[in-house]
Amino acid sequence: MNAGTKSLNFDPDALAKKYKLERDKRVRPDGNDQYREVVGEFAYFVEDPYLKEEIERDPLEDEVEVVIIGGGFGGMLAAARLREAGINDFRLIEKGGDFGGTWYWNRYPGASCDIESYVYFPLLEKTGFVPKMKYTNAPETLEYCHRIAEKYQLYENALLQTEVASTDWDETLGRWIVSTNRQDAIKARYVVHSNGPLNRPKLPAIEGINDFKGHTFHTSRWDYGYTGGDSNGGLTHLADKRVAVIGTGATAVQCVPHLGAAAKALYVFQRTPSSIDVRNNQPTDPDWMSSQPTGWQDNRRKNFESIMTGAVVSEDLVADGWTEAFRLLFGSVRDKAPSKAKIAGWAAMGLLNPDFYRLGIKQYLTNKVTEHMDLAKALELADYEKMEKVRARADALVEDETTAEALKPYYRQFCKRPCFHDEYLPTFNRDNVTLVNTDGRGIDQITPRGIVFDGTEYEVDCIIFATGFEVGTDYARRAGYQIYGRGGQSISEKWSNGLSTFHGMHSRGFPNAFFFGPAQSAFTATYTYSLDEQSIHLAHILTNAKKRGATLIEASEVAEKQWVETIIEKSRLTADFQSQCTPGYYNNEGHVNVKPQNSTYGGGPIEFFALMKKWRSNNKLEGLELSQA
Ligand code: NDP
Repeated sequence: MNAGTKSLNFDPDALAKKYKLERDKRVRPDGNDQYREVVGEFAYFVEDPYLKEEIERDPLEDEVEVVIIGGGFGGMLAAARLREAGINDFRLIEKGGDFGGTWYWNRYPGASCDIESYVYFPLLEKTGFVPKMKYTNAPETLEYCHRIAEKYQLYENALLQTEVASTDWDETLGRWIVSTNRQDAIKARYVVHSNGPLNRPKLPAIEGINDFKGHTFHTSRWDYGYTGGDSNGGLTHLADKRVAVIGTGATAVQCVPHLGAAAKALYVFQRTPSSIDVRNNQPTDPDWMSSQPTGWQDNRRKNFESIMTGAVVSEDLVADGWTEAFRLLFGSVRDKAPSKAKIAGWAAMGLLNPDFYRLGIKQYLTNKVTEHMDLAKALELADYEKMEKVRARADALVEDETTAEALKPYYRQFCKRPCFHDEYLPTFNRDNVTLVNTDGRGIDQITPRGIVFDGTEYEVDCIIFATGFEVGTDYARRAGYQIYGRGGQSISEKWSNGLSTFHGMHSRGFPNAFFFGPAQSAFTATYTYSLDEQSIHLAHILTNAKKRGATLIEASEVAEKQWVETIIEKSRLTADFQSQCTPGYYNNEGHVNVKPQNSTYGGGPIEFFALMKKWRSNNKLEGLELSQA
């Protein structure tokens, strides 16, 4: 142990070595190629198991002002904000049978949101909805999506059960042609792409998936016909079944307790354990909600994201595991910092930003504030301390010592998505539940009878893939359709050497197309917050363009170039930190994306939203070229 660290009840040097060892085990040369796309003979993994009735209709060849692709929160918010702005000639295209997006698809037992419902549910003050609990679950979220759709009369503008095949810019018409799997060819002046960052399920490219003779599905297409029960559990049909779950990310953490309670035998195949902190859900006090002043929700989500960005706030309104993690980290920093002014200065520099913290302390410090190396050390120690508590929880809750040890995460807290759950770890105390620890390797093979790891075949009746969603692959592949702009250039071609946008929303050569998502835009823990801000931004642009009689909106070359430069300049120089993290979708499966222009806005979401608000305030739409199509 180093001098100066004697008072700690852990050895930071030993932990650093252990983290490196665990990471090195997991790095694979094939990166994203270790996964297989769910197309062709694997397309059955993305069929819709929730459809009650298939809609039959003739193909459409009509025209609307705006097509919004995606009926999740992003698409619904875009539509709601357009309605509020008096723009009603829009059509929402959604491949699912109803609104909900992520929440339409992810109905697995226990599905729930870790972000407090009072900040996660957008438009709460407009809908008057009172979430039952501090952390909501999938059924209530889906119910809330329906509430929004009804309030803003979105069903009448919806084209459900319809999958976009491509969008093509027609230069002569000055319109987008939106083609679908139902042979529609809809003309639209504007197209909003809100297709969801975690929408495309992925499967491991493992030998034998299609040889398996039992039942199988991905968690985002849960087969309740097979398991029985619903999102609340009660999977009674599994009482005589041996079930395997592959993966132990945030999804598995939520469904494993229900599977463990129901299945005759459950095998959980783990490659890397998640960090599982306390959840402590609480019912909503309706009096508290009704006593909130106008504007409370916006204040609350701003307060939450500010804490997550390391800003100094007078009160922690949400006060949960997320904010505690940041309070602990910054508390340790504050001990090192003698003056408030200094902390504020660091915050202003973005030094106390979670992106910075998660992604690039060391390099950031080396490049920009070498004199604060003690600060980097303080943050690292605070992280070790926090993760020691997380690891101690496994010892406290899991009876078998070997299993408890295997469930301990050895990496920095924000290398992977932290989880909060109170029943996951105790599930491994059940006699019918076995953790198959593949120790970073993953499963070896799938056979007609089950799963092979390390020479042992685990015979099962059902394999459930909790293996997540594509993140680092090509935009069009994830969206499920290609976008062809001016001169037939595809968005994949345009972005093949790195993202290029204006404000993350526009891309030159793709006039009248609007992109929703975190790329070159804000990254928030509360994803609906940034989608809402993007929707407000969209409505502002379309309203102002209309006022000027403009029908063609395109980012200027200079504005786009400058925005890319801003993204690069503000990027957190993250490569060094990320490359030390255990692989996952946060660091492109260990193959760190070194292109700084592919980052989110490095100043953090609160700064980004303020910047966009300022940009909107003079109504000039600077950086956009406006003309008539
Ligand atoms: P993840 O990508 O987080 O997890 C996929 C899991 O599959 C990982 O444990 C991964 O291991 C494992 N895996 C992949 N390939 C193999 C293999 N060959 N053998 C064994 N294991 C394998 O997906 P999730 O669906 O769990 O979560 C995706 C995201 O969705 C979350 O990060 C979160 O943002 C969101 N979410 C949020 C929830 C919430 O609010 N509570 C709940 C659910 C999801 P390894 O880690 O080693 O790569």
